[in-house]
Amino acid sequence: MRHLLFAFIIPIFLISQENYKKTCGVKRNLIQSATKNNTITKANLSEIITIPVHFIIVHKPNEEIGEGRNLSYEQIYSQIEVLNEDFRKLNPSFINTPDEFLPVAADCMIEFCLATIDEYGNSTNGITRYPYDSNQMSENYWEDVISQETYWDPKYFLNIWVARLGGGNDGFAYMPSDNVPLYLDGVVVKDRYVGRGGSAQWPFDEGHLTTHEVGHWLGVDHTWDSWDNYSCSIDDGIEDTPEQYEEYYDCPSYPQYSCDSSDMFMNFMDYVDDACLSLWTEGQKNLMHNIIQNDRNELLNNPYNCDNSSNISEEIKPRKIIQTIDLLGRPSTHQKGFNIKIYNDGSVKKIFIIK
Ligand SMILES: [Zn+2]
Repeated sequence: MRHLLFAFIIPIFLISQENYKKTCGVKRNLIQSATKNNTITKANLSEIITIPVHFIIVHKPNEEIGEGRNLSYEQIYSQIEVLNEDFRKLNPSFINTPDEFLPVAADCMIEFCLATIDEYGNSTNGITRYPYDSNQMSENYWEDVISQETYWDPKYFLNIWVARLGGGNDGFAYMPSDNVPLYLDGVVVKDRYVGRGGSAQWPFDEGHLTTHEVGHWLGVDHTWDSWDNYSCSIDDGIEDTPEQYEEYYDCPSYPQYSCDSSDMFMNFMDYVDDACLSLWTEGQKNLMHNIIQNDRNELLNNPYNCDNSSNISEEIKPRKIIQTIDLLGRPSTHQKGFNIKIYNDGSVKKIFIIK
């Protein structure tokens, strides 16, 4: 009887592990992008770059907005907020960054907004809802049909498809390359791991999966060697992310070592749970800015940049955090305890950061 019981327990355990294990199907092109060559120009790191985002929500036809995989506006907008925190070093989890990595932790100076003008010049809330009567969306169907029907010009917009992705990946993105067709040049993420709170599911319920995929879209690779499958000789090509043999899962205790160094498993380009991700490095920031200046330079002086002063015809108007202060009104250093976010529409939101 004991053996029989064991036989039942193990498969359930394996299934639940599989559900929570992050996998990313990043697409690298054989033609090298600016990531891997030496002809890149020096990036100007002093300017904030704002990228208009177009969300494509692939949902079952019978789902109303806010139901099932047809995510609410609030859920989608929470993902924009997470991106703006993560790429500006304003993420609450940053306080968990180990001291040894603080000197290389970067404010990437990149911000995101929901597009307010579509590629035809019409007003939009930045969201396209796409009914699709299938239990899952295969990567092939996305490539052959959905991406081509829904993308906006990726030279000016970041397209993020949200779908019940089949095939084992929680998300994927194409690294920058001239060889990627325009309609594939974006990010795809599983609907249950989008945004913060709400319908997002643990352990990827803080929006960092999208941050990770957007990192790929901006040319950043995994922090370990995921090209040749595990070694200490090749990794992401970035100097200030330590050599790392393999990816980490769950929420490892600090420190962890491989390749004779302390591993930066809390970097957004690793696979650990959302709650345990906390930083980008200066090297990764530099690469992203180089990619924008070389491979995605239409994003600079973008004529489609979001106009937050215009009225959005449906749902609520996007808000933007303009400052975060502590209870005494001083600029917040994101210590634990109360912090107050001030938005551009004059509203404020109090958040409590728990170490
Ligand atoms: Zn990845």
